Amino acid sequence: MRIRAQVAMVMNLDKCIGCHTCSVTCKQTWTNREGTEYVWFNNVETKPGIGYPKHYEDQERWKGGWKLDGRGRLVLRSGGRLARLGKIFANPDLPSIDDYYEPATFDKDVLVNAPAGLSDTPVKRPYSALTGSPMSVQWGANWEDSLGGQTAQEDPNLAGLADRVRFEFEKTFMFHLPRICEHCLNPACVSACPSGAMYKREEDGIVLVDQDRCRGWRMCVSACPYKKVYVNHATGKAEKCTLCFPRIEAGQPTICAETCVGRLRYLGIVWYDEDAVLAAASVPESELLDAQRGVFLDPHDPVVRAAAREAGHPEEWIEAAAASPVWTLISEYRIALPLHPEYRTLPMVWYVPPLSPVLDAAGAAGRDTADADDVFHTISELRIPLEYLASLFTAGDVEVVAGVLMKLAAMRSYMRGRTLDGTVAAELLDGIGMTGEQVEAMYRLLAIAKYDERYVIPAAHSRQAAVLDSQAAGQPGCPVGFHPDSVTPRADGRRGLTIDVERS
Ligand code: SF4
Ligand code: SF4
Repeated sequence: MRIRAQVAMVMNLDKCIGCHTCSVTCKQTWTNREGTEYVWFNNVETKPGIGYPKHYEDQERWKGGWKLDGRGRLVLRSGGRLARLGKIFANPDLPSIDDYYEPATFDKDVLVNAPAGLSDTPVKRPYSALTGSPMSVQWGANWEDSLGGQTAQEDPNLAGLADRVRFEFEKTFMFHLPRICEHCLNPACVSACPSGAMYKREEDGIVLVDQDRCRGWRMCVSACPYKKVYVNHATGKAEKCTLCFPRIEAGQPTICAETCVGRLRYLGIVWYDEDAVLAAASVPESELLDAQRGVFLDPHDPVVRAAAREAGHPEEWIEAAAASPVWTLISEYRIALPLHPEYRTLPMVWYVPPLSPVLDAAGAAGRDTADADDVFHTISELRIPLEYLASLFTAGDVEVVAGVLMKLAAMRSYMRGRTLDGTVAAELLDGIGMTGEQVEAMYRLLAIAKYDERYVIPAAHSRQAAVLDSQAAGQPGCPVGFHPDSVTPRADGRRGLTIDVERS
C-alpha cells in the first residue's frame, strides 16, 4: 500500500441556484488575461443540456478518457503513443472555438461619448475578442442557462428516455451542474502529454501544467473527457484549473468554494492507495463505482493512520483527513457520487445528486409528515428520471442513485417530523439503514455546516512542498519531519506522481 493524500471536493447539487458567482470569481482570479477569453476553469451548466464545450460528454466524438481494449487493458481512447504521434500536427479530436464560443467584447465608448441630444439611443455592438471584427453573438459558456438555447433534447444522458421526458412548461426538469477540473487519480491528460508537461502533485494530488515544458501539442485537451484543459491562444500553451493551489497551500478553500452563494461545496483530504488506482480503473463498468470508493482509505482506521504517519504525513494532515467532510459524504454516508465514472479517470470532484422535485413527499400523500412508504414511493416518481442521474453519476446503475435519493428524502422527512411535532419515523431510518444520530449529523453537514466544517484543509502543506522541492533539487533529507521515502523520486527529477504513460 502506498498511501497518498488528495485534496477533493464534493458539491451538493440540491443547493446550487445557478448564480454563476463561482464562475465569475474564478475568471477574475485566473483567466481574465489575453488568450483565455473563452476559458472558464469553473463553469455552471444547466442539465439537461449539451454543456461547455458543446457535446463534451460524447466520447465517441472527442475520444476523451480511458477504455478497456479487447484484452481488458486500460488504454487511452485517443489512442496509443504511435496513434497520437501520427496526429501530433493535425489532431482531429479537438473542439473548435465554435464548440466553446467566440468571446465577444463591446464598444462601450459609443455609450460613454455619445453626444447629447441624439434622436436615437446609442447602442453598443459586439466585437470578437479574438479578431476585433464585428460579430453576432451565437453561443456562450452558459447559453443553455435554465433550459435556454433549445438544446436540452440533445443531452446524451437522455438517450432512451425520450418517452419519459417532456420539454413542456411545468413538465420538464432542470438543475445546475457546476464543473471544475476533477484532479483525477488516473488523469488521462497527464498520460497523453507527449512533453511530460502535465503532472499530478505528490503532496496533494492537484493536477497542474508545467508552462516551461508545455509545447502546445494539445493532446491533453483531447484526452480529458471533461474538457477541462484549455489552450491559451496567446501563449500557445495548455492551462487548466489549479484548484487554487496557492490558497490550498495556505489552508484556504478554492475561490469558487469560498464565494459559493449556495454554500454547497465541501473541501477536504482523502487518503487513497496509489497501488490500487490502476486496478480500480480497469474493472468492468458495472463495478467502477465500488472500485473507486474502494481506493479510498478510512482515515479513522488505526492501521491507515499508522501508515500515514509512517509515510511521513504530518499529524495535522492525519487529523484533517479524519475530519474531512469529503470522506464523510463519499464513504460514510455514501451520498456523493462521481461524475461519469465510466471515463475511468477516477475523478475527485463528487456530487450529491439533486432531490428538489420530491421535497413534499408528505404533501403528495396528504399528510403532515411522510412515512416510509410516502418517501420511497415518491422517489420512484421523481420528475428527474433516475436513469438520467444514473447516466451522469453511476455509469447507469439506477439502484445506487435511488438509494442515495432515499437517504436524502428520508433525512428531510425525519427532520421535518422531528421539528414540527417531535415525531420520529423509525421505519424511515430502518429503510435507509441509518441511526437517528447519523441522519441528524448528515442533515447538519448538508444544511447548516459552518465554514470550518465545510472546508477542512490542513495548512501544513507548504512544509511538505518545501521538502519535495529540496528532494527535486537533489537534497534528500527532511528538515521538517516529512519522511523522504513517502515520495517516489522521478527519474527526470521533476515533481509529481509518475503516471504510467505506458498504459496508453
Ligand atoms: Fe486531467 Fe482534470 Fe481532465 Fe482529469 S478532469 S483528465 S485531471 S484535466
Ligand atoms: Fe451554484 Fe455556488 Fe456556483 Fe452559485 S456560486 S452557481 S450556488 S456552485
